Amino acid sequence: MKKHNYSAGPCILPQEVFQKSADAILDFNSSGLSLLEISHRSKDFVAVMDEARDLALELLDLKGKGYQALFLHGGASLEFLMVPYNLMKVNGKAAYFDTGTWASAAIKEAKLFGEINVVASSKDENYSYIPKGFTVPNDVDYFHCTSNNTIFGTQIKEFPNVSVPMVCDMSSDIFSRVLDFSKFDIIYAGAQKNMGPAGTTLVVVKEEILGKSGREIPSMLDYEKHIKAESMFNTPAVFPVYASLLTLQWLKNMGGIAAVEKLNQAKANLLYAEIDRNPYFKGVVKVEDRSNMNVVFLLENEEHTTLFDSMWKAAGISGLPGHRSVGGYRASMYNALPIESVQVLVDVMKDFESKI
Ligand SMILES: *Cc1c(COP(=O)(O)O)cnc(C)c1O
Repeated sequence: MKKHNYSAGPCILPQEVFQKSADAILDFNSSGLSLLEISHRSKDFVAVMDEARDLALELLDLKGKGYQALFLHGGASLEFLMVPYNLMKVNGKAAYFDTGTWASAAIKEAKLFGEINVVASSKDENYSYIPKGFTVPNDVDYFHCTSNNTIFGTQIKEFPNVSVPMVCDMSSDIFSRVLDFSKFDIIYAGAQKNMGPAGTTLVVVKEEILGKSGREIPSMLDYEKHIKAESMFNTPAVFPVYASLLTLQWLKNMGGIAAVEKLNQAKANLLYAEIDRNPYFKGVVKVEDRSNMNVVFLLENEEHTTLFDSMWKAAGISGLPGHRSVGGYRASMYNALPIESVQVLVDVMKDFESKI
């Protein structure tokens, strides 16, 4: 039986993506060859890469606006250093917004390249809210933020208006909600949270911001080289890119980001309403900053852990335990998680209440 998968990443993908990926592994495009054994330079795979890059821009409404989409290696974590390598001038400065573990990991890497100005941080309260009302200086090379805090369950609802290039790590909420994506100059996301299997990273770059750092950049870390090579500078992650394309096609067929955003909102409303109603559970983050992707909650009384754990497991739920730095539970509700799975969890929570 298929489980209700709340894993934070790698995570649930649409069932049809699993099916079509499996088909392609056995026989890709009726070619008599597996997707895993063809050249990345073959006509069929070049078409996959081209369509994936094009569709990513189309879904983000960035086509024809000076952006390029790349599928790179190294995860979001490699972007933590590719961004300063490409954007920060020698002896330069950058501004960072510290809203969680991943944001602070990005800061750590960027410090190797120049002066980092942390414009705001919620570390003082274990990243349980999104700081507001800060200013981003005009004399920095770029501003970096993290749209969704995967671990603590906060999400930036309003992005600041800045006069410098804005870079955003959208690993855990890309393609989940409508934003004015043209506000950003670089968007990056490890595939494995909302787009595909682990092994590739989507990077969307506004071309005009590149080539200004004055640094000599190693080829594999140079966005301009990857753009010129149409994301085939070296062998790309053939299978993850293909499976990502299938997810993007699924998203387009269901009506794009606007359609999935409605479903994501309905799922989040359903679960948060139960957390707030049920006296045996509590949320951990400031209500206005709650993430619609990663819902973090605790039991009021930890002594009930064994009972609750046995109940959700018996209901076919998987991947619910929280990150070790927060404890409790984390329900990751990415695009492909059906609302029926959320209802199963809510029913377990109600059932739990009646058993205590
Ligand atoms: C998971 C995650 C990362 C790390 O991604 P990798 O692809 O494993 O490097 C970075 N940022 C955010 C917001 C994440 O959720």
